[in-house]
Amino acid sequence: MTNANWFNEKVRPDDLPKKVEIFDTTLRDGEQTPGVALTADKKLEIAHALAELGVDIIEAGFPIASDGDFKAVKRIAKEVDATICGLARCVQKDMDVCIDADVDLIHIFIGTSKIHRDYKLKMTKEEIKKSAEESIQYCIDHGFKVHFSPEDACRTELDYLIDVCKLAEENRVDYINIPDTVGVMTPKAMRYLISELNKNLNVKLAVHCHNDFGMAVSNTLAGIEGGATVPHVTINGLGERAGNADLEQVVVACKLLYGIETNIVTEKLYRTSKLVERLSGIRVMPNFPIVGENAFAHESGVHVHGVLAKAETYESITPELVGATRKLVIGKLVGAHGVEQKLNELGITATEEQVQRITKKVKDLGDMGKKVVEEDLIAIAEDIIGKVSDKEALIKLIDLREHIDLNKKPFAFVVLQYKGEEVMSASDGVGPVDAALGAIRKAIGEEKIVLEEYHLDAITGGSDALADVTIRVGNGERTVMAQGVHEDIVMASVMAFINGLNRILVK
Ligand code: MN
Repeated sequence: MTNANWFNEKVRPDDLPKKVEIFDTTLRDGEQTPGVALTADKKLEIAHALAELGVDIIEAGFPIASDGDFKAVKRIAKEVDATICGLARCVQKDMDVCIDADVDLIHIFIGTSKIHRDYKLKMTKEEIKKSAEESIQYCIDHGFKVHFSPEDACRTELDYLIDVCKLAEENRVDYINIPDTVGVMTPKAMRYLISELNKNLNVKLAVHCHNDFGMAVSNTLAGIEGGATVPHVTINGLGERAGNADLEQVVVACKLLYGIETNIVTEKLYRTSKLVERLSGIRVMPNFPIVGENAFAHESGVHVHGVLAKAETYESITPELVGATRKLVIGKLVGAHGVEQKLNELGITATEEQVQRITKKVKDLGDMGKKVVEEDLIAIAEDIIGKVSDKEALIKLIDLREHIDLNKKPFAFVVLQYKGEEVMSASDGVGPVDAALGAIRKAIGEEKIVLEEYHLDAITGGSDALADVTIRVGNGERTVMAQGVHEDIVMASVMAFINGLNRILVK
């Protein structure tokens, strides 16, 4: 554990599990996020990413909901290497489509709280027990494992809830999940409830927490303190209403605050979050923990100095652990240390005196209310140090030709001047930009070059808009940011790439 926090150690239960099993419901509860609808292809892409991330169980969908969801779940069950789960009510046709989809695990649920019994189901306590028992048996008789949820468990009378759970256990379900369907638990209540159930049951307990009061992650962790070993989570905390417990936060808190392991490859958390952000269309708040854009950004001068001296002074989680990068934001609070670090990152070398002058300029602009972004810093630095002249540039573009055949991959051919010599190469790629950058990489023989980030902005509207491409590119030894602007997207990308390479390779 990197966090020497003796208060956590003082109150940590002695019987915590060593490891928990991650049940991801991004593709089921997450897809119920208002405004989110995923095509089968997108669901499959996310499912593969979840499997690579190390998720143990993927709840792939609610197959009875639509034909599209049925097909998506079936494809995921066939193609993705993880335990695949499908959701069903205690209704035969729901279970039948899960069986047809050939999932590994059927998640069946029935409301048990008084409000669900009286208003939604209009069933008595005994009728609900009978329906649950018959449904569990139906799945087991068909050779399926069962994940059973007494829906709205957290508003159900405890004695009745224990009664229903014992019945499920006697019927040999593999898991019992305790959903806080409307997100009304507090952490202490969750720990108490799970401990009480744990005293009465031997089956594995899962917890499914909603974030209506912003406590989904805390309640999930409290459930684990109480003896649950299967947290239900979603990428980026997606889910109905205010969402579900966030996978990234639960996993990293388990690891760093509790010393509980998971099968998650934490270094893939950031990229998985970005993939889900892109495919779901739901943007992550900048101040979201772990994967938000500001999660590892430092602006104030004192903090930047501390972080550069020893990251742990102002970071409780290292960006490397989750596959993110530390960012030093340039603002009027920045100190000379931050400016110097940022200049290094941009591939700009400056003397101490030049750094002082650049820092003063940044602060003066800040006092005038102007936020200095990286491009401004480059301009200021070039103004003070003098531009990296064309003469110093190792790589110059002489010619670029693109070819796209509808039946074949995009293809690019480049001619460059590199270290005074004319070199040329060609490459295919998944798209024209990928092909062009691949050809440049081959032409200069620098196969280690990795494009780490790529941002495209249209400066003006319309199809003739100027494309503004900002990239982060590295060769394993240094990473730089670079920019290119052109009316053609491929050209803007190529210019940004060549600018970046010139910064990396200079001297
Ligand atoms: Mn839910």
